[in-house]
Amino acid sequence: MNYKEVIEEVYKKVNTIEEKGELATYIPELARVDPNKFGVHISTISDVNFGLGDFDEKFSIQSISKVFSLCLAYKIMGENIWSRLGVEPSGTGFNSLIQLENDKGIPRNPFVNAGAIVISDILLSQLENPKEDLLSFIRGLSNNQEINYSATISNSEKSVGYRNIAMCNFIKSFGNIENEPDKVLDFYFDLCSLESSCEHLSELFLFLANNGKTRLDGKQILTKSQSKRINALMQTCGFYDESGEFAFKVGLAGKSGVGGGIIAILPNHYAISVWSPKLNEKGNSYKGMKFLEEFTTVSQQSIF
Ligand code: GLN
Repeated sequence: MNYKEVIEEVYKKVNTIEEKGELATYIPELARVDPNKFGVHISTISDVNFGLGDFDEKFSIQSISKVFSLCLAYKIMGENIWSRLGVEPSGTGFNSLIQLENDKGIPRNPFVNAGAIVISDILLSQLENPKEDLLSFIRGLSNNQEINYSATISNSEKSVGYRNIAMCNFIKSFGNIENEPDKVLDFYFDLCSLESSCEHLSELFLFLANNGKTRLDGKQILTKSQSKRINALMQTCGFYDESGEFAFKVGLAGKSGVGGGIIAILPNHYAISVWSPKLNEKGNSYKGMKFLEEFTTVSQQSIF
């Protein structure tokens, strides 16, 4: 498969479509991003690395980082983690509170905000220096040290984080948050503030295409079974109430963020990342979704 040619063809095509999305203006700093950015990068387990457009520029990865925090919590806790949250698609938006009351504070899955807040609570309880330990876990996934938190982004989100604050307190009222909500939210907002480029993201996520093992130094980050399960969760819950659509049109395991980034995995083949900041009404990158749909169509490869 000549991924370089496919990416060039699809990038050119998708770049010309009319873009209907909107920036994530509910986070003030994200409203300031250049809406015309468009980058893509692939890393394959046979060591093809190729990027196009703004692939080496850092952006706010937002909810893509929920996969990293989940992987670390899963590595530490094993299957015990599933007593605190579910593995079921929510069918709701990422920041919805609606199911929490009926579900008694047990979030449907780790990728809606409620689930990522519970994972943040688990990491706070388990780690000595949660912020530093998470960052070194992520950096250990590939040989680049580039990924980092952005104080500007996390402060910006904190200043308007009323819904997440409500959510964390609500879950705490059911006893499913152990730590003080302020501390949990601080960690959650920092998690969402991580910045990386398409190039580094696809390198960092390659272990999920490689049965849980880093390609460069063969470190087993997750067991084969855990890695398969993370991919299953990305497949079924990675795009909130657009996850079915992503499976239908793209057919990869993936995760989006409101910064306009998407990471997608074809197990045993590659990790691919796309960044285009304008979002569709479900909060997923408008052009990113189109790019990946076209990419799996032209390459004729997908999970299914
Ligand atoms: N930080 C964002 C929030 O909590 C993350 C949402 C997302 O990327 N879908 O609202």
